[in-house]
Amino acid sequence: MKKYHFNKRVLVTGGAGFLGSHLCEALLKQECEVLCVDNFFTGRRGNVAHLLSNPSFEILRHDITFPLFVEVDEIYNLACPASPPHYQHDPVQTTKTSVIGAINMLGLAKRVGAKIFQASTSEVYGDPDIHPQPESYWGRVNPIGSRSCYDEGKRCAETLFFDYRRQMDLPIKVVRIFNTYGPHMHPHDGRVVSNFIMQALRNEPITIYGTGEQTRSFCYVSDLIAGFLKLMDTPHEITGPINIGNPGEFTMLELAETVIKLTGSKSELIFKPLPSDDPKQRQPDITQAKEKLGWEPTVPLEEGLKPTIKYFKQYV
Ligand code: NAD
Ligand code: UDP
Repeated sequence: MKKYHFNKRVLVTGGAGFLGSHLCEALLKQECEVLCVDNFFTGRRGNVAHLLSNPSFEILRHDITFPLFVEVDEIYNLACPASPPHYQHDPVQTTKTSVIGAINMLGLAKRVGAKIFQASTSEVYGDPDIHPQPESYWGRVNPIGSRSCYDEGKRCAETLFFDYRRQMDLPIKVVRIFNTYGPHMHPHDGRVVSNFIMQALRNEPITIYGTGEQTRSFCYVSDLIAGFLKLMDTPHEITGPINIGNPGEFTMLELAETVIKLTGSKSELIFKPLPSDDPKQRQPDITQAKEKLGWEPTVPLEEGLKPTIKYFKQYV
């Protein structure tokens, strides 16, 4: 007799976005049944078009600020615009997505007994006065600025996750993601990697905000997703928050030079005002990820930029 094979049913909110689409693909490779939920604010059907013919993949248009009733074993909560121009477009909706969305997804997890993962962010550290940032650092965040809808929304979501854990012993996994890049980013996303590559490919001026001496640490998407899966697989005691990112730290000027070199572009640099509350430096301390997950990034910036540039060429 054929043995019944039970596939894990996994909900990915924000599944049609940049990271969500890579996660859906990775989960399908692990033979999970995947329910991708997205309101398509920044996500695109094209990101998951290649998954639609898979009978284990399902897509649902839904806004997580409204309750959702489905039966699943695991939830990855990624829904939330991540690029500053996108999350500042409708800041009230951004806070609602982070806070009310988290309440709805935690309520769902509680009802069905699911393990739940939260895509938090290095933005919880704000403009940090400790460098690199360990998970124990509480951050330096402006509560009333233009980035606050995102930063404080994500901080409140973390609070909710840990209160559900303390009150209901819910299995939670919280990851703090540092700047990540790769194929499936929106070509008009507004984040630095997509902006610089699109500008370079079009031989248009590369827009450096401020002096360009501010730093970020860039993680390639495949490394990040491997970290997600490892964290979700840990025992109940391991909750995070845990930093996942690539400690390789670059100034925006260095990033621009690298993109120009790899694209062979004729672009020049132009300097624009620095957006308010723009953090001066950011680098993850990944000691915990190494020790608790046995995870560390493997793709150096130049190697990750090559497939990313190839992907963006279709939009030029
Ligand atoms: P993205 O904008 O490409 O994806 C977000 C997805 O969420 C989109 O598909 C969007 O349509 C969807 N969404 C937004 N609001 C929603 C709502 N109310 N209901 C349902 N769907 C909604 O961004 P991303 O880079 O893929 O980021 C995914 C997650 O990771 C976000 O939660 C973000 O905060 C977090 N994160 C990303 C980075 C990064 O560098 N990419 C860094 C830190 C944190
Ligand atoms: N940035 C820039 N030019 C751009 C877009 C962004 O110089 O066209 C800078 C931005 O001011 C910030 C850094 O690049 O210092 C990273 O910005 P991004 O929006 O990618 O993410 P953040 O880490 O600020 O959320």
